[in-house]
Amino acid sequence: MSVGSLLILPGDGIGPEVMAEVRRIIDWYGEKRDLTFDVSEDLVGGAAYDKHGTPLTDATMDHAQEVDAVLLGAVGGPKYDDLDFSVKPERGLLRLRKEMDLFANLRPAQCFDALADFSSLKKDVVAGLDIMIVRELTSGIYFGEPRGIFEEGNERVGINTQRYTESEIDRVARSAFELAMKRDKKLCSMEKANVMESGILWREVVTEVAKDYPEVELSHMYADAGAMQLCRWPKQFDVIVTDNLFGDLLSDAAAMLTGSLGMLPSASLGTPMENGRPKALYEPVHGSAPDIAGQGKANPIACILSFAMALRYSFDLGEEADRLEAAIEQVLADGKRTADLLGEEGVTPVSTSGMGDAILEAL
Ligand code: ATP
Ligand code: MG
Repeated sequence: MSVGSLLILPGDGIGPEVMAEVRRIIDWYGEKRDLTFDVSEDLVGGAAYDKHGTPLTDATMDHAQEVDAVLLGAVGGPKYDDLDFSVKPERGLLRLRKEMDLFANLRPAQCFDALADFSSLKKDVVAGLDIMIVRELTSGIYFGEPRGIFEEGNERVGINTQRYTESEIDRVARSAFELAMKRDKKLCSMEKANVMESGILWREVVTEVAKDYPEVELSHMYADAGAMQLCRWPKQFDVIVTDNLFGDLLSDAAAMLTGSLGMLPSASLGTPMENGRPKALYEPVHGSAPDIAGQGKANPIACILSFAMALRYSFDLGEEADRLEAAIEQVLADGKRTADLLGEEGVTPVSTSGMGDAILEAL
């Protein structure tokens, strides 16, 4: 059964290495579960520049607009450091995000029991943690006008403006409620309505959107209190929705509740397409890791978990996503570790494909 279309953009550095393991898992789904994806693969970043002289061709961009989901590895590397800004590998990714209008950035903080010791927090605080931060990505203080450094009297003043329209808040709130419906039906909205006008509007609009999702339990929290609660007892949350600036801080903090960069997936969603599925780009949080590229050392789990997010949020295959995550959990519980997941003790790490083998076997 075809479940939909997927564009794979492996990119640069360890991108192709970790993506190769995802390809094996996609093949497994076709062979063993009769779930086939209409997969196409293309170039992005430095790899696209090498072949086409641009980090993203118009044809690839157009294709990305049509598929149910895009899965990206990583872009960039020292080879491209001296390129003109307009053709830098990162511009390929930025163009995708901008033209697909991906306004909701999803960053899960998920802690596999076997890695709970990695956290700087007490084990019982993080073991089994599974929360999701939805960060508004295309507006707010990073884009609001006026902005700049201006002369004022006999000194200079640096200005940024936090600006949100009702429709910008409405659409990211809807994305968050939709996610909450697919998860534990609990949403916490964070702003600072006590000191910010945009926060007051944010709270009003989110409360209004909540009327369309009566099954979801909505709460509001000031973002500073939220930061504290996130570190104190993160399991009280399921989905958190917040603006661009607070989301930047909170999602980084939440990510570090759980350990290695090699474990962190992400998704960026836009408005629903005609088939009801949101425009979507899935990618690991880590970069191209040039220091370990080509050595078979990279941890493929962040990229595999990004694919699991695609299963859940683009293809309505939540149970299959659970199955994949359970396989990863089991492999970690069995003590399999790529080098990034090892401390000082003398365990031999598995390679990128060794981790892929183990996950396939667990599946
Ligand atoms: P970018 O600018 O693209 O974010 P960066 O240099 O900031 O790149 P990464 O490329 O993510 O960050 O690398 C940061 C460090 O984490 C490097 O030492 C890298 O080897 C390590 N790292 C990143 N991803 C992985 C992975 N999947 N497995 C193992 N180690 C990783
Ligand atoms: Mg970085």
